[in-house]
Amino acid sequence: MRPSNWKHADSLTYLMPHSELTPDFALAHSMNVSASINVLRLLANPTLCLPHYTVSTFDQLPVPLSTAFTKYGTEKGPDIRAVVLDKDNCFAVPRQNTIYPAYSAKFDELRKAYPGSRLLIVSNSTGTSSDKGYEEADLLERNAGVKVLRHTTKKPGCHAEIMSHFRNAPDTGVTVPSQVAIVGDRLFTDVLMANMMGSHSIWIKDGVVPDHGLLSRVEKGLSGFLLRRGYVAPHPWSDFE
Ligand SMILES: [Mg+2]
Repeated sequence: MRPSNWKHADSLTYLMPHSELTPDFALAHSMNVSASINVLRLLANPTLCLPHYTVSTFDQLPVPLSTAFTKYGTEKGPDIRAVVLDKDNCFAVPRQNTIYPAYSAKFDELRKAYPGSRLLIVSNSTGTSSDKGYEEADLLERNAGVKVLRHTTKKPGCHAEIMSHFRNAPDTGVTVPSQVAIVGDRLFTDVLMANMMGSHSIWIKDGVVPDHGLLSRVEKGLSGFLLRRGYVAPHPWSDFE
């Protein structure tokens, strides 16, 4: 029998002590140390970068998002109560704080499906320490009509700040990370964070503008390599509890 503090993170290939993955662990470290630790985590278990669902662009997201995850939950899909949206190359052109015009209808659909605190923007540019006075976060909130998280640790290390936000907003009804879906274009930040916190992930594979950078090519190469060999994303934790 498995010790009770071990989580079945992948149906066939991987077991990781739950105690290593507590949110306080990442929060207690600076961004650089946290990032280094998370790279090591990925080396130990590459499936942490695999998404539960993939679309090419933001406007292809299924709403409600639970319908994307039916094979991970019941026939209706899991109980997704809140959604985290990445910004750059997800619903916006990188470094812009407006919704890409072609995606505004989908953004409105999401805002209606996840009203109030249920929709949260978590960017690694806007709302971070590099956003002086949070002027960009204020602008994005006015343009999008959605809360932007102000966070001290960048993704993938800010899961504790995200869960704290949802748990402190009673209208979300969020009690466990598997009730959260994370949407973003980066496997090593958005998707890795979702799998570290035990949430569901949706990968925006192509984004608003083509990204042929080294990081993007490494992400796509690694995920393609793993998927061709039959590896799958870790199961969101609390569905096993
Ligand atoms: Mg992005």
